[in-house]
Amino acid sequence: WTEGTQADADRSLAELAALAETAGSQVLEAVSQRRDKPDAATYVGSGKAGEIRDIVAASGADTVICDGELTPGQLNQLEKILKVKVVDRTALILDIFAQHASSREGKAQVELAQMQYMLPRLRGWGESLSRQAGGRVAGGGGIGTRGPGETKIETDRRRIRSRVSKLRREIAGMATARATQRSSRDRNATPSVAIAGYTNAGKSSLLNALTGAGVLVENALFATLDPTVRRAQSPDGREYTLTDTVGFVRHLPHQLVDAFRSTLEEVAAADLLLHVVDGSDPDPLGQIEAVRVVLGEIDAASVPELIVVNKVDAMSEDDILTLRRALPGAVWISARTGTGIEALRELIATRLPRPDVDVEVLVP
Ligand code: GDP
Repeated sequence: WTEGTQADADRSLAELAALAETAGSQVLEAVSQRRDKPDAATYVGSGKAGEIRDIVAASGADTVICDGELTPGQLNQLEKILKVKVVDRTALILDIFAQHASSREGKAQVELAQMQYMLPRLRGWGESLSRQAGGRVAGGGGIGTRGPGETKIETDRRRIRSRVSKLRREIAGMATARATQRSSRDRNATPSVAIAGYTNAGKSSLLNALTGAGVLVENALFATLDPTVRRAQSPDGREYTLTDTVGFVRHLPHQLVDAFRSTLEEVAAADLLLHVVDGSDPDPLGQIEAVRVVLGEIDAASVPELIVVNKVDAMSEDDILTLRRALPGAVWISARTGTGIEALRELIATRLPRPDVDVEVLVP
C-alpha cells in the first residue's frame, strides 16, 4: 500500500522486488491491491490475506515481503494467517544495509538502526510468545502476558537499551574523529564536493570517472554505504575532495536516516553537491524528490546543488528532450562512456569557492 497513483505503487513494488533480490531472495510473485488505507489488523485485509495464503502455498514461498512499515500487531496477525515469515520494507532495507556495511562506523550505525527498529517490536513478540505459552488468552495485557515471557522481554529490553547507548557513544566518538579530519581539510582550504543521489544512479561510477580511483561499482542497490573520500583536481589545477555518500531510496527508514546522520554530515558540510540522477530510470524526477527529502532532514538542503543527469548513453532522444525541459540547469553525462565528464570538471571548477588571498602587511 502506497499513497499516490497505481503507477507509483507499481514502481514502488518493482523497487521492492529489486531490493529483495539485492538481499539474496528470489522473487516468485508480486501481489498488489487498491485500498484507501492499510487494514488496522492485517495490513492487507483479511480477504486479501486469504488470497496471499493461497499464492504462498501454491508457489512454495517461504517469506512474504510487504511494501511499507507494518505495526508489530499487523506482522503477527499476517504471520498467523500466512504461516510463513512476514517482513516489511523497513526490515528488508535494514537487512541489506547490514549485509553491506564494511567500516566499523557503518556497522555500528546499522546495528543501532536495527536495535531501534526492534525495540518497539519486542512487545509484539512477547505477546505472541506468552500467548503460545498460556494457551488461549483473550486480548493483550491478560493472564499470559505476565508469565515468564514478560520477564524475558524486560531483560531483552534492558539489554537492547544499554547496547543502544553504547553504540550511540561509539558513533559520536567516530563522528568527532571525522569532524576533526574535516576541519583539518578545511584549514588546508581544500574545497569539498559531495556526490549524492538515488541508489544505482551512478555515484561510484562518477567518482571513478572524475578521479580515476578504483571504487567498487556494483549493479546492486546499496553498493555504497560508507563514504569514500578521494582527491580530485580541476582543469585549472586546484585540488578538491570528492565524497561519495550512501545511496538513497524511497522511504529510507527513519531509523537509518538517524543512524547515518553523522555520515551524511559530510554532505551538509560540502561546498558543492553533485546530485546524480539516473536519466534512464522511468522516474528521474521522483528520484530527485526522494533524495531532496532526505537532504532536507540532514540540513543539507542549503548546500549549492548541481544536478548531474547520468546514463545519457542509455536514453532516447525523446527522453532527453523531455527531461531537459524539466531540468534546465542540469549537466548531462555518461560516466560509462565519458560523455560530458570534461564539461562537468570545468563546471565544478567554476563553482568551487575561491581560496582566500592572504595579504601580508610588513611593518618595518
Ligand atoms: P551508485 O549506486 O549510485 O554508486 O551507482 P554505481 O556507480 O554503482 O552504478 C550503478 C550501475 O549503473 C552500474 O551497473 C553501472 O555500471 C551503471 N552505470 C553507471 N554509469 C552509467 C552510465 O553512464 N551509463 C550506463 N548505461 N550505465 C551506467
